Amino acid sequence: QPFGTPASYLVLEKLEQHGHEAVFVGGAVRDYLLGKRATDIDIATSAEPNEVKAIFSNTIDVGIAHGTVLVLLNHEPIEVTTFRTEGTYSDARRPDEVQFVKTLHEDLLRRDFTFNALAMTKDGQLIDLFNGQEDLKHKIIRAVGVPEERFHEDALRMMRALRFASVLDFTLDPATFEAIRNQAERLGNVSVERIKIEMDRLFLGTNPLAAFKLFTETKLSQALPLFPKETRGLEHALPFASANEGWAYLLVAGEYSASTLGGAYKLSNDEKRFIAAVETAYTIRKEHPFAMDEIYLFDVPVLEAAEKFYRSISMDEGFAPFPQFEKEKNKLAIQSPRDLSVNGRDLMNWADVKGGRWTGEWMKKIEAAVLHGRCVNDPNKIREWFMNDFNSKE
Ligand code: ATP
Ligand code: MG
Repeated sequence: QPFGTPASYLVLEKLEQHGHEAVFVGGAVRDYLLGKRATDIDIATSAEPNEVKAIFSNTIDVGIAHGTVLVLLNHEPIEVTTFRTEGTYSDARRPDEVQFVKTLHEDLLRRDFTFNALAMTKDGQLIDLFNGQEDLKHKIIRAVGVPEERFHEDALRMMRALRFASVLDFTLDPATFEAIRNQAERLGNVSVERIKIEMDRLFLGTNPLAAFKLFTETKLSQALPLFPKETRGLEHALPFASANEGWAYLLVAGEYSASTLGGAYKLSNDEKRFIAAVETAYTIRKEHPFAMDEIYLFDVPVLEAAEKFYRSISMDEGFAPFPQFEKEKNKLAIQSPRDLSVNGRDLMNWADVKGGRWTGEWMKKIEAAVLHGRCVNDPNKIREWFMNDFNSKE
């Protein structure tokens, strides 16, 4: 077996046994030729969805309207899509209708880039109608067919082109580049949800710097919901440790508020929380190096992002080694309020006073005292410290 997983071979075999044509297609074939492990395996077939469902006992209708059936074989999910075209795109968002077609050739014509229009039979024979293999060799992103038409049909492909520039570290073929530059503004027709997914992947690619340059050169950046005018210090901020860090970089570089950026790209609440925390930490970092209070307050990825952006954007890389926040955090007496050996109820018992706002306030004081080593995190020691202070103040 030159390629694919045992279960995906079984799917091809079964489809063929039932008289259908079936091949591996798309990213998995591309990644195989690049010597990379494929994340998901896509199969294209002449069988229509209902025929696919009749052959396999365990299937899920993930995209019947687009001709896609998810086959579960030996617990492995394999996407099986009927040969199709995408009809017309009246709004550059979604095809108005998909049409099933008879031949693989017609199916490959609808695909975005030459290296994504490769197919492979189960015996490892490559089907390469558009010289995709050659483009892979030369690390070129080239639209299938007439680039202008392809980006006009589906403007998301322009984002995909830049995503592949980052992920694969490929360059754009000149005609493909020109077409993107000419149609950049059509990206405005694409839903932010789809744009966001491509951005996440772009951030995590091997060469986000190249993609960022292309955003500017093609003016695609102007069609994005938000994009910083200047990407200062980017080369020193790379690689991003996570997609979240990429979003935080946009926030800091663009001097947006977290809610503006989060709203523009419809970030999740977790993502918004992360970028807001980086923004706060970054502001503090511009004032002074992170001390115990910040190391306690912020999560390690937040500290790392803020420190990195401070060094790269503020051009103050310095000679000091990058702090080991994880280690420093572990050295703290407590990592969070949950680590305190007492709680509000203990305080009420000791003071013999009903709970109220004072309990929360005192817990804060105890937290700070323990963190800064004024009191050991031990119930007896805290009690002593508390009773002393509590009585003297009441
Ligand atoms: P990844 O490694 O991220 O999965 P991929 O190339 O497999 O990359 P998918 O989004 O999984 O990307 O799409 C699978 C295939 O479907 C692509 O390789 C391409 O042939 C085709 N495709 C996906 N999106 C488009 C699009 N917008 N226009 C044309 N063809 C597309
Ligand atoms: Mg894929």
